[in-house]
Amino acid sequence: MDTPVQFVKGVGPRLGAVLASREIRTVRELLTFFPRSYEDRSTLVTVSQLQEGVAASVALQVVSSRLIPIRKFGRTLLQVRAADSTGSIGLKWFHVPRGMESRFKVGAHFIATGTPKTFQGGFEINHPEINWGKSADASGPAETAANSENVGRVVPVYTELEGVPTRTFRKILWEAIQKYITQVNEDLPDELLKKHGLPALGKAIRYIHFPESKDFPETSADFSIENLIQFRTPAHSRLVYEEFFKFEYLVLRQKLKMEKQAAPRIGLSGGREAVSELIRAMPFRLTGDQKKTVDEILEDLGKPHPMNRLVQGDVGSGKTAVALLTAGCAIAEGGQVALMAPTEILAEQHYQNCLKLFGSKIRCELLLGKSSASDRAALLPRLAAGEPLILIGTHALLEDPVVFKNLTLVMIDEQHRFGVEQRRTLRKKGANPDPNNPGKWVLPHILVLTATPIPRTLALTAYGDLSVSSIQEMPPGRSPIITKVVRGEARKEALFKIKEQLSQGRQAYFIYPLVKESEAEGFTELKAATVEAERLQKEIFPEFKVGLLHGQMKADEKAKVMADFKSGKSQILVSTTVVEVGVDVPNATIMVIEHAERFGLSQLHQLRGRVGRGTHQSYCFLLAPLRGGELTNQRLEVLEETSDGFRIAEADLEIRGPGEFLGTRQAGGLPFRLANLVRDREWLLKARDDAQELLIQDPDLTSAKHARLRSYFERDGKTQFERLRTS
Ligand code: ADP
Ligand code: MG
Repeated sequence: MDTPVQFVKGVGPRLGAVLASREIRTVRELLTFFPRSYEDRSTLVTVSQLQEGVAASVALQVVSSRLIPIRKFGRTLLQVRAADSTGSIGLKWFHVPRGMESRFKVGAHFIATGTPKTFQGGFEINHPEINWGKSADASGPAETAANSENVGRVVPVYTELEGVPTRTFRKILWEAIQKYITQVNEDLPDELLKKHGLPALGKAIRYIHFPESKDFPETSADFSIENLIQFRTPAHSRLVYEEFFKFEYLVLRQKLKMEKQAAPRIGLSGGREAVSELIRAMPFRLTGDQKKTVDEILEDLGKPHPMNRLVQGDVGSGKTAVALLTAGCAIAEGGQVALMAPTEILAEQHYQNCLKLFGSKIRCELLLGKSSASDRAALLPRLAAGEPLILIGTHALLEDPVVFKNLTLVMIDEQHRFGVEQRRTLRKKGANPDPNNPGKWVLPHILVLTATPIPRTLALTAYGDLSVSSIQEMPPGRSPIITKVVRGEARKEALFKIKEQLSQGRQAYFIYPLVKESEAEGFTELKAATVEAERLQKEIFPEFKVGLLHGQMKADEKAKVMADFKSGKSQILVSTTVVEVGVDVPNATIMVIEHAERFGLSQLHQLRGRVGRGTHQSYCFLLAPLRGGELTNQRLEVLEETSDGFRIAEADLEIRGPGEFLGTRQAGGLPFRLANLVRDREWLLKARDDAQELLIQDPDLTSAKHARLRSYFERDGKTQFERLRTS
């Protein structure tokens, strides 16, 4: 299995290099390069049975062939006439592969596969796939074609890598399977395979590449081409289950491992009382979910192991208050706390919030990239000396000169915006040698916050090593936002409504996907924020003041624009998605999002959360093209129907996959080749339960029946594991 892929027949140096660049280096890796789809070529048709637009394979004999130079383009065209006993068709190549024409000798047999179209009263196929030497003679077409990787069967369709066609993959996989499939070793314990009625690995792999229903006579499973295409055969399930199972084992083991590390216990000597006092002094009462979350956190902090908790709740659900109360607990016992946010606007807002909610009761400092040298010179020694405080900031917190003496709690806001490395760097600043356990470390507690609710399936996988608290209940006094998807003529009505609101003293956000017209090719028709801000100011809202905010502005310019909007100096804020996180202007009641179809639903939901923060009725207008082919466009209506962030997140996962939620979290996303979190949810849950059970029974895989699994993790598991670590 570890044989280099070059030893497979048909893999030359060039193909070998392409494969290597896609991490297909060994036979094992080649065998798990699975088809993305299938084509049913199990029966051949005759020329008389061909139908316009319906892909088919037909066995033919060459009648004539000629190369036609096309002077205008300096190229040649290959035209072949071929026939069976029922009629003849034309075949045409506009790019002629080298040596191709010489093979079409009159009378030569071959099978052509492609989609026929009507041409000059007959059928013609452009660029058909050709299989030589297969004839439609007396013994019957399908039979002569059998035992080939390209015809007479359901054939796999592979993703083309750097110009390597699916046909080449078919050929080398066919070779690799003939030669190596018997060497495929099983990793999963027999018990589990039996429990779920899953086939052996070698058999499953062969079937996935070259399906033949006779491989599975024992099951009554449905082997229709539809099921194959949807990856729902027992062979596919077997691989899906295995991927999930191995993954879950690692994630859950990581969780167990964290639970064994040491951390300072917090809250047992005055911290909890301090929190109660802070809560009493706050200008509002905590919601039930906020209270519950604070309790869950305090419970974790009191344990001698590091907390690793995620707090998820919609924009405006009050996560900051929860985080700051947690900080209060640590500080009361002499600890230091770091709160890292992805943008300066957001960091500053947390800082202001802290002053507003707790005044001088919590000692709070701010560190940004733009902080002056003198501010730093004043701050850094206090950190190094161990002064109990919360330091709020951006990536600036990660810089080397920022040294804490006693960092016991690390908090990260909008954590999906940071990479694993950045979170590790921050955590390291709080790691200290364990005085009771030479060679071991005491780690800080970690709290991460996110406004993008994580669908349950992802919570079980990518975030499986985190404990999760959910804040679903919103603070009182928030009225639901009226949301409308606006297309075509409806824009006029929307503008009318916006004007009406502005005249009543309210304010509005206008959000655009890109800053400059030409920023990305293919997006040039998108309205750019800069151009649009001007247009809105001059043509549409001359009586109001329009501010502009985008990612390429300097921090102080941004701060000024924000301050003007907050104080009401400007009534309209045109922006790219920088306002996505954190901005709090209760008087803003209108959110307009241009090209809403370009955004993920969760992102739109977050943007919408910028309004509806005051006592006035708020509105959200999602502007979309009249006819949009994109899936997202059709699903915008979900936002009209619900303000439940969790439902929206689920819909998003279904439409756009997990990328939206993972962000930069794992460089390559989730390491699944076949498994799909939405489609295979059922198998995920089974795998999770089984992995949990295994970690209870035999956590280190020492029993004989788990030897295969253990050697798998020793061999491959480590690399996978590194990719998975969340902290
Ligand atoms: P999030 O970070 O979850 O988006 P914030 O913590 O910024 O939300 O809270 C949004 C606003 O709601 C802030 O102005 C905050 O002071 C206020 N707030 C938080 N909790 C409550 C509550 N229980 N009652 C009233 N207002 C609250
Ligand atoms: Mg927040």
